[in-house]
Amino acid sequence: MPSQTPLWQNGWYSQAQRHDSPNFGPRPEGASIDLLVVHSISLPPGQYGGHEVQALFTNQLDWDAHPYFEQIRGLEVSSHFYIRRDGSLVQFVSCDDRAWHAGRSEYRGRSNCNDDSVGIELEGLEGERFEPAQYQRLARLCQDLALCYPIAHLAGHEHIAPGRKQDPGPGFDWSLLKSLTDFSDKCFPLV
Ligand SMILES: [Zn+2]
Repeated sequence: MPSQTPLWQNGWYSQAQRHDSPNFGPRPEGASIDLLVVHSISLPPGQYGGHEVQALFTNQLDWDAHPYFEQIRGLEVSSHFYIRRDGSLVQFVSCDDRAWHAGRSEYRGRSNCNDDSVGIELEGLEGERFEPAQYQRLARLCQDLALCYPIAHLAGHEHIAPGRKQDPGPGFDWSLLKSLTDFSDKCFPLV
């Protein structure tokens, strides 16, 4: 029998390129990781294809490289995953650990969503559309996460931090994501 790489190893996904971020910590004891949070990001906003997002999440962004970066200077954040416009996938933090993507947040009656969620950033601009390749990759990732974690909710950053965050916004097609996965209607935000 040929040896096969396991899909998941210690919270790392074999289908992603790994770029370790220092921005993470332990999850609380007994955390039930049942929430996927979808975000959008691009740096500078609306510019695609560069390495600035990976640089931000690994504390290597040159804050002086663009005027916009002044607004986020010193920010230490991360997500578990980042899906590029072409569908390629990067992982920064083990899903067994707590990434820093949600901030002040509340969902399904629990606050501090970083404690028990997986954060997935899509390369994009909030309110704008996303690429078919990104939905395909996201859907597969959601399905594969559900093999390993008791995923029961998928939501946008806008749903867990309403009024404070707007991503991924109205350009994100929740019904398309639903159609590409096995999750039931009640797993999704009311849109
Ligand atoms: Zn976000």
